[in-house]
Amino acid sequence: MNEEWPAIEVEGLTHTYKGGHTALSDVSLSCGTGVFGLLGPNGAGKSTLMRILCTLIPPATGSVRVCGFDVTTDRQSVRENLGYLPQEFGAWRLHRVEEVLDTLARLSGMHDKQARHARVDEVLEQVGLAETRDRKVKKLSGGMLRRLGVAQALVHEPKVIIVDEPTVGLDPEERIRFRRVMADLGRDRTILLSTHIVADLGAACREVALLDTGTIVYQGPPAELVRRAAGAVFEISAEGDAIESLEAQYDIVSTNFFGNTVTLRGVSAEGLPEGAAPVAEPSLEEAYMAFMAARGRSSAARQDEEPAPTPKKGRRKKGARA
Ligand code: ADP
Repeated sequence: MNEEWPAIEVEGLTHTYKGGHTALSDVSLSCGTGVFGLLGPNGAGKSTLMRILCTLIPPATGSVRVCGFDVTTDRQSVRENLGYLPQEFGAWRLHRVEEVLDTLARLSGMHDKQARHARVDEVLEQVGLAETRDRKVKKLSGGMLRRLGVAQALVHEPKVIIVDEPTVGLDPEERIRFRRVMADLGRDRTILLSTHIVADLGAACREVALLDTGTIVYQGPPAELVRRAAGAVFEISAEGDAIESLEAQYDIVSTNFFGNTVTLRGVSAEGLPEGAAPVAEPSLEEAYMAFMAARGRSSAARQDEEPAPTPKKGRRKKGARA
C-alpha cells in the first residue's frame, strides 16, 4: 500500500447512469484505518459508491483511489488491495467451508499450497468458523454465512474491506457478533460498512458519512452527530388518541408500553410537543433521524429505516477480486 494516501480517497465524484439519473453528485470522502459507516436512505447512492470503489463500474467524473491506486487506471492493484463482502454469499451451496476459502484464495493469486492452507486456517479462526470448516455452505446459519463472507473478503489480506448491508436477516446475537468481528478487523485496516439500519453501526465506527440523494451531507464522528441532535429528541408519555396524534405529527423512533400509558421517543426539527422532555443522550439512530428531519427528510428517513429491502436488479454481483 502506498502509505502517503488514506486507504480510500474520493474527490469530486459525480456519477450519472445511462438514462441521465445522477446517483452521486460531487462526493468527496476520505477514510484511514478503522470502521467507517456509510449511512443513508434507500436510493441515496451507497451501492453506486461501493461499486465504483470495487472497480465494478467506472466513475463518470472525479478521482477515486484505493490505497493510492486509481480505480480507473489501476484496477488490478485496487482489486489486490480490496475485499468485498456482498449482501449475499450463497453461490457455493454444495461446497464445504474450507474448500470455498481455499479456492477463492487460489483465485486471488495465493499459489503456494502450504501458505494458502495456513492462511485459510487463520481466517477461519478469526471469524469463528474453525469448528465448521467441514460443513457444507447450505447447512450454515445466516450468521455463519455472513462470517464466511467476511472470511472470503479477508483471505488475500486486503487493506480495505467494503461491506454492503451486513446485518440484513441476522438475529440479534449474530448482529452483535458481526459487529465485534468488524471492530476487531478495523484495528489495522479500513472497513467501509454501508447500511440503512443505523443501529447496526454501533459504537465501533470511527466516522460516519451520511449520503442523501447522491450528496454527502455529513462526515465525522458518530458522537458529533449525536451532539448535534441535542434538543431535537424528546420523550413523552401519552394515552389513547394522543398517541396517534403524536405519531402523525412527529417522527417516532420507539414506543414502550406500561399498562395503558405509552412512552414515545421521537425527533422534531421544529420544537418539542407540549409536555415532552428533551432526551439527554440520544442514540445514533435518533441523531440520524433528527439530522434528516432538520433537512426536511423526516418521513423518507422513517420509511427507509424498515429492514429487509427488496434486492435491486443488477446488485447481485460476484466478489470484486480478479
Ligand atoms: P442505495 O444503495 O443508497 O440504495 P443506489 O446506489 O443503489 O442507492 O442508487 C442510487 C440511485 O441510482 C437510485 O435513484 C437508483 O434508482 C439509481 N440507480 C442505481 N442503479 C442504477 C442503474 N444501473 N441504472 C440507473 N439508475 C440506477
